[in-house]
Amino acid sequence: MSSSKNQKKVLIVGAGPTGLTSAFELARQGIVPQVIDAKKEISPLSRAVGVSASTLELLEESGVTPRLLAEGVKITNAQITLESEKCTALDFSLLPCQYNFLLSLPQDRTEQIMQKRFEELGGSVQYSTVLISLTQKKDGTVEVVTEKDGKRLTETFNAVIGADGVNSKVRQQMGVKTRDYEYPNAWSTAEFNSKDWPSPPGEIQYFLKKNGNFAVVIPLGNSRYRAVSNTSDALACVSGKYTIDKLHSANTFKIVVRHVKTYQKGNIFLAGDAAHTYLPAGGQGGMNLGIKDACSLARRIAENDVKGYTRERRPVGKATIRWSVIFAVPRFRSIWMKM
Ligand SMILES: Cc1cc2nc3c(=O)[nH]c(=O)nc-3n(C[C@H](O)[C@H](O)[C@H](O)COP(=O)(O)OP(=O)(O)OC[C@H]3O[C@@H](n4cnc5c(N)ncnc54)[C@H](O)[C@@H]3O)c2cc1C
Repeated sequence: MSSSKNQKKVLIVGAGPTGLTSAFELARQGIVPQVIDAKKEISPLSRAVGVSASTLELLEESGVTPRLLAEGVKITNAQITLESEKCTALDFSLLPCQYNFLLSLPQDRTEQIMQKRFEELGGSVQYSTVLISLTQKKDGTVEVVTEKDGKRLTETFNAVIGADGVNSKVRQQMGVKTRDYEYPNAWSTAEFNSKDWPSPPGEIQYFLKKNGNFAVVIPLGNSRYRAVSNTSDALACVSGKYTIDKLHSANTFKIVVRHVKTYQKGNIFLAGDAAHTYLPAGGQGGMNLGIKDACSLARRIAENDVKGYTRERRPVGKATIRWSVIFAVPRFRSIWMKM
């Protein structure tokens, strides 16, 4: 790669939380990257809601953290109910850290805040632009073919970041091997409004069943809640008396656990869901891990120190995947201890 920061041309494929974090972190360090995304605009689909304390600490310097805090709901307590009996309460405010809570904020709002920060630093996202192919050249540069409105364009970059999610084209083009496991059972989410939800607005609720099924209900603010369950009917797993005033969505989804064997090949890098996918586990979920990959990679590209990227991030990915499996589906422990 070029030794001068300003001469570096970096392409980021994917404008989800990982791509956008890489973008504003690079821009802050003097390299305004090109960012493309196949979609037309930020997706309104609700996915991640939990922003962890360590993510908030990491995004402080960029100025993104105060904006997330201004909009999110602080989750300060957890209540665990076994079958129908309340059994344990946890008070996060006792944790000895600055952000001693989980921040609940829908992913599309997080992405809008990140994109605005990138634009303030001189960048912009090129939507409706699809990555077609990548070729690593002998001189270390990467030749990239993209397509917009049926027109193909070939350009050369010093580095390419694949932040293009679970079905990453960058990963396919790199030919990187993965370990994959698909959970046989469908999981589910439901989003609803309830004016008489029986717990304070800053409390997350865990409903555990003796057969291993569970649901988690996290407040989103304004009497809106999100339930996630390891069964196909999230609301059926939620006990207690409450009224649903409006059901916004109820969906099932399959979980694939996947981890790449390397996060880099030459000057092509993977970050976020392109490198790892696993259970949506709140503060330890894929969005938070992707943001951390992105901060590390942006710093390394800016400082010409990319060699250790896989060595730094893969063990963190591995430990997080193992933790999520052990926590959520103990009977799959044996499979994922091999990861
Ligand atoms: C129901 C659900 C609940 C979740 N809850 C949580 C949670 O509470 N906490 C948490 O941390 N995580 C959670 N997650 C996971 C989280 O949503 C993902 O880990 C996160 O979106 C990953 O971000 P990313 O930027 O790596 O990828 P993505 O958000 O998937 O972004 C990838 C982008 O790449 C673009 N793209 C793809 N292919 C191309 C191409 N060829 N050319 C150009 N662009 C391309 C896509 O359009 C997309 O915008 C949840 C997920 C689900 C499904």
